[in-house]
Amino acid sequence: MFERDYAQDLSRLGLEDEALFGFEVQYAHLAENDVLKNEFHTRPSEVLRIGNQVLREQFVKHNYSTRPIIRVVGFPDSYRRRVNELRMRDRGSLISVDVKVTSVSPPHGWLKYAHYVCDFCGETTRVEQRRARERKSPSFCKPCWEIEERELKKEGFPAPHLLRLPGSFQIDVSESHYKDIQSIHMREIAFDTQRHLVESRSQFEIEGVVSDDLVGDIKNHSLLRVNGILVVEPVPTRTFAKDTRRMLSIEVFSIEPLPDEE
Ligand SMILES: [Zn+2]
Repeated sequence: MFERDYAQDLSRLGLEDEALFGFEVQYAHLAENDVLKNEFHTRPSEVLRIGNQVLREQFVKHNYSTRPIIRVVGFPDSYRRRVNELRMRDRGSLISVDVKVTSVSPPHGWLKYAHYVCDFCGETTRVEQRRARERKSPSFCKPCWEIEERELKKEGFPAPHLLRLPGSFQIDVSESHYKDIQSIHMREIAFDTQRHLVESRSQFEIEGVVSDDLVGDIKNHSLLRVNGILVVEPVPTRTFAKDTRRMLSIEVFSIEPLPDEE
């Protein structure tokens, strides 16, 4: 798709020294390919992850040092959803909502990959993390485990699964990878037949998170069409890690400005 529909864009990009670049892709282009269309509908996060990899290869081909991030826009009406109708069972699905932004948090970050170093052998392990969850660390060090297993076998010890798994790690902050994010609070809006803005009530409010190049782009009180994936988040006010309460939020992957009321 990039080579067919975006070859000109790719060869003409005048990128400055930006580290990240939001690359807009029209849903209609993506939907021309049935496989891509179906996969994007059923596994949007995975398709975006692979798509970003493919686009990055295209950027490398053109000698762009910037990291591109796909921003799919122009969703058909079938993805338009009402906030008060969203349920937990809809998590993971693609949605498009027209909103007024009611608050924007300061930019902050989260640890996407933590880099751990084994205290005994120096082996490094990268552990993928999830936002707003307890940090995960490696359960054991494989090289140390192999040494211990070999040594104990020599001494005629029994089955390896009875052994203690070795592991003691330090996190290496400088090698760990962080992601920039910003939380937004929004309220669904609608337009009446005369294209006048109809502001909705508080039951139509929802949280969202934007990341990377979109951080800093969203103005409070702006009218936007927000496209993203519906996700389940822990409630922000939880006081203990195993709190089971969850709320719905939108992992925003693109925004489109809506016309202000005349
Ligand atoms: Zn080790």
